[in-house]
Amino acid sequence: MRAFPVAAATERGKCQQCTGSICCTYITQHIPAPRSRDDFEHMLWQVSHDGIEIYKDEDGWYLLIHAPCGHLGTDGGCGIYAKRPAVCRAYSNDFCELDEPAERHFALHFRSYDELLRHYQKRFPRAR
Ligand code: SF4
Ligand code: SF4
Repeated sequence: MRAFPVAAATERGKCQQCTGSICCTYITQHIPAPRSRDDFEHMLWQVSHDGIEIYKDEDGWYLLIHAPCGHLGTDGGCGIYAKRPAVCRAYSNDFCELDEPAERHFALHFRSYDELLRHYQKRFPRAR
């Protein structure tokens, strides 16, 4: 997956049927690929927090931060539709996460401390 931009949830049709407004409920942030024990230790700290996951895809490593947008209305619409950020305007719903979960394109995906720790221990068997 790319660093997923988010869509205009008030778009008619398909987005109105997307009751979870999937693409407006998180952000992603590119991070450096972990190369050292210190890098992994830092990531273990990050992924220990609620709502934080880490994944790697063809574009690199990313933090996945589950956090619904503050402009997302209870009806699933965008409260600032006319002024929504460019990243939201650029995102098309032609083929989006309602069609296919982004996780399908992840080469690596760590949802918890334990999942990342197992990967860390494979990379650095003597680390812990
Ligand atoms: S600004 Fe609007 S379209 Fe963009 S993430 Fe928030 S609710 Fe969704
Ligand atoms: S995931 Fe797709 S259908 Fe759902 S709000 Fe975003 S663009 Fe629309």
